[in-house]
Amino acid sequence: MPALRQLANVSSDYTARVRGESPPRPAARSSPRPPRPARVGRRVQPDAAGRDALGYSTILLTSMDNPTGWCEHCGGAFHYRLIHNGFGDSAYAYCDACAYTVLLDGWSEAAKRVHFRVQQRMTPDVERLLKLCPCGGAFRASADPKCPHCSRPLSAVVATSYIEKNAPGTAKGWRWDQSWAGVYSIAINEKIVKEWWDEEVVERLFPAER
Ligand SMILES: [Zn+2]
Ligand SMILES: [Zn+2]
Repeated sequence: MPALRQLANVSSDYTARVRGESPPRPAARSSPRPPRPARVGRRVQPDAAGRDALGYSTILLTSMDNPTGWCEHCGGAFHYRLIHNGFGDSAYAYCDACAYTVLLDGWSEAAKRVHFRVQQRMTPDVERLLKLCPCGGAFRASADPKCPHCSRPLSAVVATSYIEKNAPGTAKGWRWDQSWAGVYSIAINEKIVKEWWDEEVVERLFPAER
């Protein structure tokens, strides 16, 4: 959990500074409190619910919005987040080589030109309009999410065991639909890119109206 470690480092640094381990201050200064070190200002400032501006929990990565799953091939664990593509009218796809997810907003500028189906996995006609994955692979309509350790495709059926165990809605009757092509997409270890359009190709095939 590098993010947590980072926060911990910043706060121990801060503690060290307020203990007086920072460079000595001129005695003449009368201010009773030293100014807050500048670095503290760059810390993530969560809201009352402990979420940052993107809505991610900054307190506990294993809380219900970032629970843990595991790979049935190598046993490796990962954090994941389920994204409901009906609330945001989005489409999604997975890389054919790694654990990345792409999310496409149905209300974006590109979506006004490229008409694509939302609330589901991306259709194959959209593939050529996207940039390559950061890993060099391609986002494919037929690709399933991958383990971040061994890159093998995860089973949507095996995933039932951790998804239903971790979802608060399960107690009220919610069930995972056991499909990587339904209204839910999954982001693994926050490996996710958004609005990943190849602007050159979009411009050529779907020129903006002038
Ligand atoms: Zn990739
Ligand atoms: Zn694996």
